[in-house]
Amino acid sequence: MPTFEYACKDCGKEFIVFLSIKEYEAKPKITCPHCESDHVERKLSGFSAKTSRKS
Ligand SMILES: [Zn+2]
Repeated sequence: MPTFEYACKDCGKEFIVFLSIKEYEAKPKITCPHCESDHVERKLSGFSAKTSRKS
C-alpha cells in the first residue's frame, strides 16, 4: 500500500498516511495525528529510501 508523507504546518511534526491510490484520488481530508490540524502539507515522495536509512 502506498504511503504518503505529510508535514503539519501547525505543530511541525511529520507523519505518514497509508492510503490506497483510490482513496488518495478521492482527496481525503488529512489531519495531523498530533494536533488534529488540517494544515498539513504533503511532502514530495521519492525520499523513502533515504529517510528509512539510519543515520
Ligand atoms: Zn500537527
